[in-house]
Order: sequence, then C-alpha cells, then structure tokens
Amino acid sequence: AVLAAGAIATLAEVAGDVQRAAGAAERLLELLDTQPRIQSPVPPQALPRPSQGDIALENLSFTYPGRETPALVDVDLHIQPGERVAVVGPSGAGKSTLLALLLRFYDPSQGQVTLDGYDIRTLDLEALRRVMGLVAQAPVLFSGTVAENLRYGDAEASNERLRMAAQDASALDFIDALPQGFDTPLGPGGVQLSGGQRQRLAIARALLKDPAVLLLDEATSALDAESERLVQQALDRLMVGRTSIVIAHRLATVIAADRLLVFDGGRLVAAGTHRELITTSGLYRHLVALQFGGETL
Ligand code: ADP
Ligand code: MG
Repeated sequence: AVLAAGAIATLAEVAGDVQRAAGAAERLLELLDTQPRIQSPVPPQALPRPSQGDIALENLSFTYPGRETPALVDVDLHIQPGERVAVVGPSGAGKSTLLALLLRFYDPSQGQVTLDGYDIRTLDLEALRRVMGLVAQAPVLFSGTVAENLRYGDAEASNERLRMAAQDASALDFIDALPQGFDTPLGPGGVQLSGGQRQRLAIARALLKDPAVLLLDEATSALDAESERLVQQALDRLMVGRTSIVIAHRLATVIAADRLLVFDGGRLVAAGTHRELITTSGLYRHLVALQFGGETL
C-alpha cells in the first residue's frame, strides 16, 4: 500500500511537471513570436530622468502579426504629464492593445508612440519599462515570499519601505495577519490569496516601483464590497502625481478621470469628460447603460 501511494504521488508529480513544461513551452512560443521584433536599440537614446510621463500616439495603426483586421487604426492622442485618463469601449475595441503598445510588447505597423517626445523604439527597453507601471486585471504573483514579490517593484527596498507601500496599498493588515507576515511563502504550497488581496499586493509593488506612468486594466472580477473599497482607496493613492491610463470598468473611475477616451473598432471615436460625453456620444451613453447600469456612487 505504501508503495502504491508513493507511485501515485510520483505520477501526480510527473503530471505536474508535464503541465509546467507545457506552460513553459507556451510562454517560450509567445516570446519567440514577439522577441525578435522587439529589441533595445543600440545605442539607446538616454531618457532624461525623471520622466515627465508625457505620452503621445501619432497617426498610429497596429495589426497583430498574422491578422488582417487592424486592432488600432489612425490613433492620434496626447496625454499630459499627470493627466488621469480612462479608456472605455466595447470588447475588442483595442483597449488592451493600446497598453501593450505603450509597454512596447509590439511596435506599431504605422505611426509612433512617444514618451517625453522620444519615439519609444529609440529608448532602452528596460528604461522604458521602468517608467511604466502596470497593474493588470489578474496580477501575476511569483512563488516566493510576500516580501520577495513586493521587491519585484524595487529590489533594494528596505523593510520599512515595504511596510509603507503595503500600508498605502491597503495591504498591511492582511499581510501582518499571515502566518509569517512578509516572510509568508505564496504560490504552490504556500498561502492562497483572494483576488482583492492579490490586487493590493500588485498595487504595493507598483508603489515601490514609483513609475511616472501608471497603466491599469481594472479588474472586472467581482471583488467583495470591502475588498473593492480597499482596492479603490489604494488605486487613488497610487495615481496621485503620475500620468495614469486606466481601462475603466467602474463608474467611479470614469467620473474621476480628467478625460475619457472612447474606442470602437480600433478607432478613437470620442474624447471628453463623463458629463460632456453623456450629452455628445451615443456610444458612450450606451456603454454607460451597459457597463455601469446597475452601479450607483
Ligand atoms: P479590448 O481590450 O478593447 O477588449 P483588445 O485590444 O484585446 O480589445 O483587442 C483588439 C483586437 O485585437 C480584437 O479584434 C482582438 O481579437 C485582437 N487581438 C487582441 N490580442 C491579440 C493577439 N495577441 N493576437 C491577435 N489578435 C489579438
Ligand atoms: Mg482588454
């Protein structure tokens, strides 16, 4: 019986390894697909530090490799340093593609993206990505402790700075309640966190990184009300003093934005504040009814 149990455990382990290997191969294929095209220029243009967080898209069109229909078409857009911009539009409108181009996961098929006036293709890729902080819908946490995950934002951060960032991200209370606090292992074999807790860790990581530009794909997943409130507070603190571009899924976000960008079929079809667009854009009214119909402030 002992032998059999051992054999089963081994089989399960092998199955796990095969799955992991398959996952690794998938990621490798993705890398092979994008990597040869996206390279740091030699020599790179030096970006005067700190970045102003001034972003422009000029006459930009983009078609994914192997696709016929463009994901973005003729986008012209200037985002001021410190501006808070919310992006709205139906599914497939090109919202996530916009963030991918700002991070230079792809280069435009036509036109350019500039940061502080420099075509981002001329900038050192690592330097560019240090300027851009991304908080994705489903934040990626790595195996390792809470502290190690936070230090992906800033490898040098002191324990005190970790605590401060966690505090500002509304994450300190739950971290302190974990069995080993900041030294608690996460991931397989470690502690499982809720969606709201993962998001707040991602926000703390972004705070440590202190980027000039914040890119945010708001979570659609239903966070419970308490988690939602804490995440919102954390995001509000994170956005202060930075250019922020948020793919908005909440009414509160579009109302707080300096400017809304409405995308449809890859085109920027309307821009303005919530109040302006409610009267001028039929598509925006439709989206508000569809996405935020049940929401109150
Ligand atoms: P949104 O975020 O507004 O829902 P996306 O930017 O994800 O829209 O998608 C815009 C268009 O690009 C869609 O037609 C989508 O199918 C396509 N698309 C998105 N990601 C990829 C990809 N990795 N490869 C090929 N096509 C993609
Ligand atoms: Mg998207």
